[in-house]
Amino acid sequence: MARVGLGFDVHRLVEGRPLWLCGVNIQWNRGLLGHSDADVAIHALCDALLGAASLRDIGYHFPDTDPRYKGIDSRLLLQQVMKLLDNYGYGLVNCDITICAEQPKLSPHIPAMINELATCMGCDPGQVSVKATTTEKLGYTGRGEGIAAHAIAMIETKSAAQP
Ligand code: MG
Repeated sequence: MARVGLGFDVHRLVEGRPLWLCGVNIQWNRGLLGHSDADVAIHALCDALLGAASLRDIGYHFPDTDPRYKGIDSRLLLQQVMKLLDNYGYGLVNCDITICAEQPKLSPHIPAMINELATCMGCDPGQVSVKATTTEKLGYTGRGEGIAAHAIAMIETKSAAQP
């Protein structure tokens, strides 16, 4: 059986932090603020995957009050989410992420992001899509106050994936 899930996340942009998106370190003058590395795109993806399996959300599994997750590489969280889904008998069909950022230009980084996520999730790059958009200078993303990410993921029971 195939199931679908939706994820959404926002982090504030501040000076003095590295910018991580989809597990790729992007050289820029600001980065995202958060308890972890604040990789907003991976967080949205984790929520989409957990949502598809009806397994709550990233904050439930990795609370930001837990010192174990302070500064953690979000790729490790994604790997744990994939392991959890595997334990429940689910495999990934595909996922799609849209990152909303006025700056920096993300287009040159998209192939690296897709490869990084695919490596992390143990899937084929063809199962992963990453897109970027501005919000035409409108709202908090348009003013450069933060970056938002939307994600959708489809999973299926492994018996269906491996007939
Ligand atoms: Mg987050």
